[in-house]
Amino acid sequence: MRPLVADIDLDALRHNYQLACRCAPKSRSVAVIKADAYGHGALACAQALERDAPAFAVACIEEAITLRQGGVTTPIVLLEGIFSADELALVDVHGFWIAVHSQWQIDALLAATPSQPIPVWLKVDSGMHRLGFAIEEAAAIWRKLSAAPNVTALHLMSHFATADLQDSRYFNQQMARLQGLANELDAPLCLANSPATLAWPVAHGDWNRPGVMLYGSDPLEVANDITQQLQPVMTLRSEVIAMRELEEGEPVGYSGRWRAPRRSRIAVVACGYGDGYDRHARDGTPVLVNGQRCAIAGKVSMDMLTVDVTDVPDAVIGSEVVLWGRASNGVILPVDEVARYCDTISYTLLTGVLPRAPRRYH
Ligand code: PLP
Repeated sequence: MRPLVADIDLDALRHNYQLACRCAPKSRSVAVIKADAYGHGALACAQALERDAPAFAVACIEEAITLRQGGVTTPIVLLEGIFSADELALVDVHGFWIAVHSQWQIDALLAATPSQPIPVWLKVDSGMHRLGFAIEEAAAIWRKLSAAPNVTALHLMSHFATADLQDSRYFNQQMARLQGLANELDAPLCLANSPATLAWPVAHGDWNRPGVMLYGSDPLEVANDITQQLQPVMTLRSEVIAMRELEEGEPVGYSGRWRAPRRSRIAVVACGYGDGYDRHARDGTPVLVNGQRCAIAGKVSMDMLTVDVTDVPDAVIGSEVVLWGRASNGVILPVDEVARYCDTISYTLLTGVLPRAPRRYH
């Protein structure tokens, strides 16, 4: 078997979820497991968190139905709501909660005849300028929904654009708009994503919506005491499948981007962009070989990548290679660090792992 797996540590997931809860002891935390739990497998993650999490959040009804079909009975909120009026029948059958962000969704909701009222999170645009009603129109919509027999457990929901940044100015503007509205309506709130859960207690509402932190990624521009306690959930693990000895000046891989600065030993690793590893990884991107930090040397290929192991004398064919996560000797390579070398964020690396790297749960 090709030696590439995505090891998923469900104890670490539970640990990170508990950290999110401890950050916001007066809120309930809905575990965000959309996009197949950020690439970790939504059903397995839901099952692992089922005893602790009072609700799960996914993007759309297909994701939610997959969880129900897998036996998950916990409430599930659809963060993007419905994509057509027909979906309301399924929302009703499965008891989903829905976010509403557009007038047509409200019209469909009010015209529907569900067997029981549907829990609704009214999404307002406090500054993200993506989904949601303008703050100025939200109060009137709120009052209409409050009076509707089809609607129950109405909450105000919004999303922050800059909660991860040290510079709090825009966050404070969003928060001020939301507080004004919440005070006017005396509305229960669901505002905080991972960075707001971690760094902005003022945003902790009745519910919070931590996502990426559950998977051990630190979303903050500057780490804090809590983010340092996050544990990696996914370890992308492979092995050395071939070794090369190069003379000084000899190139490695496509276009010969990397040239040996001295006599070098190169390890060829069974993981490439055909597995979801980012092709934008620069020379120098860290990798753990036998638990020791090494650097990618040369462009990532479809099925393999190459690593300079000149300073790892025990690197041989079969040696363990960790692309991110925790090595067998306990050394951790944070996915956030790899993401910086790829000019991206952990979210894209985690959600980008392809089925050719099968998941193995622990
Ligand atoms: N809430 C909404 C509406 C989202 O779109 C997301 C993620 O994209 C989250 C919460 C979770 O965000 P994070 O993963 O940064 O915690």
